[in-house]
Amino acid sequence: MIRRNIFEPIHCLIGKSPKLRHWKALEISQYLSETTLREIQWQRLGEIVRFSFEQNDFYRKRFRQAGLTPEDIRSPSDLRRLPVLTKSELRNNMSELISRGYHLEKLQQSKTGGSTGKSLELYFTEECSELRNACSRRHDRWTGWEPGEPVAAIWGNPHYPATVKEKLKQWMLSPVIYLDTMSVNEKAVLSFIEEWHKVRPTLIMGHAHSIFLLSQYLRDMSIKDLRPKGILSTSMMLIPSERRTIEEVFGLKVTDRYGCEEVSLIACECEKHEGMHLNIEHLFIEFIKDDGMPAASGEPGILVVTDLMNRAMPLIRYQVEDVGIPTDRKCSCGRGLPLMESITGRVADFLLKKDGTRVAGVSLIENTLTKLPGIVQMQIIQDSLELVTLNLVVDTHFNTLYEDKLVNYFEALFEHYAHIQINYVDAFNCEDNGKFRFSICKIKQ
Ligand SMILES: [Zn+2]
Repeated sequence: MIRRNIFEPIHCLIGKSPKLRHWKALEISQYLSETTLREIQWQRLGEIVRFSFEQNDFYRKRFRQAGLTPEDIRSPSDLRRLPVLTKSELRNNMSELISRGYHLEKLQQSKTGGSTGKSLELYFTEECSELRNACSRRHDRWTGWEPGEPVAAIWGNPHYPATVKEKLKQWMLSPVIYLDTMSVNEKAVLSFIEEWHKVRPTLIMGHAHSIFLLSQYLRDMSIKDLRPKGILSTSMMLIPSERRTIEEVFGLKVTDRYGCEEVSLIACECEKHEGMHLNIEHLFIEFIKDDGMPAASGEPGILVVTDLMNRAMPLIRYQVEDVGIPTDRKCSCGRGLPLMESITGRVADFLLKKDGTRVAGVSLIENTLTKLPGIVQMQIIQDSLELVTLNLVVDTHFNTLYEDKLVNYFEALFEHYAHIQINYVDAFNCEDNGKFRFSICKIKQ
């Protein structure tokens, strides 16, 4: 309570952060009627469309090519006349996509390997970042967690606080303990449990499969006293069988959340777990079938998202390479935010080390692709314990120095018993379901 009511407000006041103000507004708006929320959403869509047409070279050209002006967009079917924005278009038109009046050096940047293994650079204002943080906070509370309470984070490449100042800040706002998905083994789990007993987190958040692995260890070790208020599964598809195991081990429901680096939080389950509430205050979300038409309730469709808040680098009809199912069902919680069923198309493969440790492919991609220049896309195939193949799509920024770094990184990771082979390819083929598998383990587990 001291963290929530004293430390955090002071921290926001000193940093002039609007996060708490945005959060309070979002806490209220979630209970507006769906009709009112959709009116707000449509008004914001009109604003971002007009703004982009006037201030953004990329969209001005795109509208003209489609023979459209902002005034022509009076309904969702009008919006569909504008082509979807693909990841490769986003990658290839980065500088054109920055609106007039915004300067790269003043914007926040995020670089991601994303769910498809292709690198992307994204830019947004600090205000937009605070809005996203406020939104995450609202949805984090749906798990039962309250701001200021300690958190256990289970994902790859955790950002451990490095300096005394950072450590103090974390302790004053919300202490975090970590389990690194780069290396989930018995030793790591034991030290995680030891820290848990000192810090007593009330929320576990992390990659679905990693939380599942932790649950398996806890079950096998008969450890039953890790009792958080909530478990938040993010960044990966939560497979029903894994969900059941997690829920059995911890004795509570998992809160499934879906989002991406490009637009942040897209949908999240509430405490009723009757579907995922769509974040329609910040996004306009379409589910589009192969023929370009919208999917009906219960039908799968590719997610196409318009970010209503990021004017610095607007994303209008951005195609997220995931498939989801919209639904007309209503949630019994009373919130006006509409529902979708779960995402149907995202599973990351984990690689295996000799000692049985599993390594999240998504974390390896983040560790290499986003740090070495020139890698456009990457795929890791573990043929056997002795052979790991890296398939790379590179551009002119890549050179042999980076190749050596890449090989050294993977050799060290697999403790020098695996041969690391690099193949250069022009492009990758998608799986039959339209998904790209960035990490494939061929070892029978
Ligand atoms: Zn609900």
